[in-house]
Amino acid sequence: MLEEQGIEFDNIITMKTAYESNREESTKVAAGYTFFYFYKESAHAAVSIEREMLTGKSDLDKEDYEYLNDIRKYLALIHEIAHVKDFRLKRNINWVTGKTDLIKAEIFAEISTLKYLTKNSSIYNKYARKLYSERLIDYLNCTDIYHREIAMGVTKKLTLKKLKQWATAI
Ligand SMILES: [Zn+2]
Repeated sequence: MLEEQGIEFDNIITMKTAYESNREESTKVAAGYTFFYFYKESAHAAVSIEREMLTGKSDLDKEDYEYLNDIRKYLALIHEIAHVKDFRLKRNINWVTGKTDLIKAEIFAEISTLKYLTKNSSIYNKYARKLYSERLIDYLNCTDIYHREIAMGVTKKLTLKKLKQWATAI
């Protein structure tokens, strides 16, 4: 990705996770990615957001499709910026010690995104928060343990009651 975008780097920072040992160097969710790399002896992060977020939802008319696609890109961006913040603070993504917990990093990003949407409350953000909360509730019920653990970490802090409330709002 960095080469494609013409971003100069010396080397990619490979994340080590307590969850899966050979996960690739980026953290990812939905269609957003963050790449961490070194360039001229300092650490950097680059966020990438996919253009199309709604494959398989082609039954929507063009206007609705674009609206929903944009809102998902917006959510992915807030989420990925939270990873960059985490990376800068070296909390769950610690590139100095190499101790990175991707589950905790995802929980941090999920909670940060919901907090951002709550703090900057507009109709648009409330709708975005609704979609985001629905997604986390789906995670709780999915068979994938990785996503379930992330959702459980979020509800532990914010409660399932709150997520359900946000998911049904508007
Ligand atoms: Zn993430």
